[in-house]
Amino acid sequence: MQDDWSLNPNVRKLLQRVPLPISLPTPLRRGAGRTRANELTGTRAVLTHLRDGLDLALAQAMQAAGAAVTIVDPAGETTLTGRLVDGGGQLVPATADLPGGVLNAIAQSGATGDRRPLTLIHRVTRPHGDDLAVNEATDGLLAVGHAAAHLPPNSRLLLVLGPDLRKDNLGALMIAATHGFARSAFKEMGKNGGTCHVIRAEDAQAAAELATFLAGPRSAFVSGLDLVAQKSLAGDATAVPTLDGKVILVTGAARGIGAAIAERLALEGAHVWINDIAQAQAAAADTVAQIRARGGHADFVAADVGTLSGAQAIADAIGKDAGRVDGVIHNAGITRDRTLKKMSVAHWRQVLQVNFGAMHLVQTALSPILSDGASMVLMSSVMGISGNFGQTNYSASKSAVIELAKQWACEGHARGLRANAIAPGFILTEMTAQMPVINREMAKQLTAMLQPGLPLDVAELACFLVGAQSRGVTGQVLRCDGGMAFGA
Ligand code: NAD
Repeated sequence: MQDDWSLNPNVRKLLQRVPLPISLPTPLRRGAGRTRANELTGTRAVLTHLRDGLDLALAQAMQAAGAAVTIVDPAGETTLTGRLVDGGGQLVPATADLPGGVLNAIAQSGATGDRRPLTLIHRVTRPHGDDLAVNEATDGLLAVGHAAAHLPPNSRLLLVLGPDLRKDNLGALMIAATHGFARSAFKEMGKNGGTCHVIRAEDAQAAAELATFLAGPRSAFVSGLDLVAQKSLAGDATAVPTLDGKVILVTGAARGIGAAIAERLALEGAHVWINDIAQAQAAAADTVAQIRARGGHADFVAADVGTLSGAQAIADAIGKDAGRVDGVIHNAGITRDRTLKKMSVAHWRQVLQVNFGAMHLVQTALSPILSDGASMVLMSSVMGISGNFGQTNYSASKSAVIELAKQWACEGHARGLRANAIAPGFILTEMTAQMPVINREMAKQLTAMLQPGLPLDVAELACFLVGAQSRGVTGQVLRCDGGMAFGA
């Protein structure tokens, strides 16, 4: 599918000069090829605090990924800053918490006129003392907000909530204020291709790994997330998150989002099992051929995931070949949109069975060959969160998927299994090509980024969730919607 917002630069310039109420979306800076250790090369990262292990882990992760790091903390602990400065980082001893402070500090860092994307990481602090001096503490949000409004295109604002905030009522007020702030800030940043997220950091390393993904080009269409970075479930951090040798199943992968996910996982080194219905054999063969032509490993298993025999056929094929499965992307999905007046039992059941019931069937069939530490990604939809006219069956199925991801995350914790749901917004595929033009236009305008996403955007998120870099993320729902709403 073509990204119909990829305007010729000359046409873009011309349209920008025309005095019409047209908002042109900013072209998004996306990743390409295999994930590299230095994904953030050519970007800058500015941190507003450097006082403890969490701040240091965030700063070091940015630096390790290739970003030019600046700290703007006047009270920054010198031994901590010293380690970063030794690694090429920069310290600007400015007062970041005051309105205008962060912007001034960025200017002082000599970066005025620098158009490289910038990740601004703000550790939200608790008000000093015991009184309700929340105004003083919330000024820090305005300071980063002012700066965010002046950042170059495709920049990021990451608001980090540390465990210290959960100790008392004042901390709780700061958490609430941060969420309210972020709920609006990401809307303002989207037009410039910027994103804004809240990270609730329960574990420093997990937060740093999550921040690195959210700062980079692989999360270009992901905005407004509110995620918990939990204590990591398995092993040490790897410099380059790789899927080399992993066996991963993607259901409904002959075309669209599923095919993009399969291609992306294969590029990362995984042996991908592509599933789809028998009628999609030709398209699936194309996807397999494309992966193999690039030196990747892929096989096709024809099966209807909505049936017990189909689910078993998938497990048998993978079991016979590899004997194990390390990740599952439950992607197959259909729409049968009808208003309630016209909703037949058949349409209701079909959608619930393929979009939701099938996940249970496939997962149960795979359970004897599921590796410890495997990661499951369940394809939901923003319609499972917000609902939509004429989509009661689809919304019910996609809402249930989110709950299923939470339940699997709880059940699988002891074995290091993870499960997360992705809720795509408006993505250009054959499924959405069937929508009436007016609905497509409205969907674009509902995003903060004023544009639809590409299958690659969902594929990048799935790739992150199935890989080691997301090991602190489980039982959560991640929207991939260009900033339609904040949180889950
Ligand atoms: P698509 O229609 O292009 O592809 C879906 C694939 O699933 C097809 O190849 C189809 O043959 C396969 N499939 C359908 N029923 C199956 C079954 N019973 N067994 C095995 N395979 C089956 O759709 P898409 O746009 O690529 O969507 C992929 C997933 O993302 C779906 O779950 C969809 O609900 C979800 N989603 C898509 C969007 C979007 O904007 N495109 C938005 C939100 C969620």
